[in-house]
Amino acid sequence: MPELPEVETTARGLRALIVGCRIGAVGGIDWPRMLPTSAPDELARALVGRTIQAVERRGKYLLLRLDDAASLAVHRKMTGNLVVVPSVAPRQPHTHLALSLEDGRDMRFVDPRKFGRVYYFPTPEALERFLAERLGPEPLGELGVERLAELLRRRRGRLKSLLLNQLFLAGIGNLYADEILWAARLHPERTASSLSLAEVERLHQAVQRVLLEAIARRGTSLSTYRDASGEPGENQAFLQVYGRAGAPCLRCGTPIARKLLGARGTWFCPQCQRPEGGG
Ligand SMILES: [Zn+2]
Repeated sequence: MPELPEVETTARGLRALIVGCRIGAVGGIDWPRMLPTSAPDELARALVGRTIQAVERRGKYLLLRLDDAASLAVHRKMTGNLVVVPSVAPRQPHTHLALSLEDGRDMRFVDPRKFGRVYYFPTPEALERFLAERLGPEPLGELGVERLAELLRRRRGRLKSLLLNQLFLAGIGNLYADEILWAARLHPERTASSLSLAEVERLHQAVQRVLLEAIARRGTSLSTYRDASGEPGENQAFLQVYGRAGAPCLRCGTPIARKLLGARGTWFCPQCQRPEGGG
């Protein structure tokens, strides 16, 4: 599933490709459930003639801001990709939306599993309300150690499930949660309130480093993720624990363990990430 680094990579790619472009036509909608906030013909009426003014990211949502203050928020879920191609290019299978730009290119939403969603908001306030109900703070940028410590103090629950909770921090999913906890040498089932200040500092550093490195490598392409130009990312070659059960820990050589936590596969090093902490 695309997480923060993949959505950020796509946002940067789209920003270079489509900001300033006018939407000439809207087509290819074959899966109306993908549009929770608008009927297909309403969406087409709202978008045709609009210019894309900005491309942003918030959590795992990709935001397109339009010149009439309306916006689109795209959540790719499992397999959704947003790619820019010449309008004459044949539509690849599983294309569920095509915004035809007036310069002869399309931005297409391709999603084999069909869990992805495209939300339309007529006003900035409606978008902000939607995001505020679903997302906590961004893990990069202004999140300092003190703020993270404060967020952890207020929470019960275990670190892995907390990192997956979008209201705790926005944008982290199963893959980067495991990578972050390995980098921080924290067991995924540690409770938030049991962390020492040194451990909170390690967690804070790991969040920044793992996400920034993955962005620098343009995301992780394990299966379907592609960037806005249709290219895979490069971070899959640098994963430390995710998907590596039985392989030696790259820090201590102990075989990586896999465990189901809340129905999600969780990979960790049983030696470097001790349940009682103190490591
Ligand atoms: Zn280890």
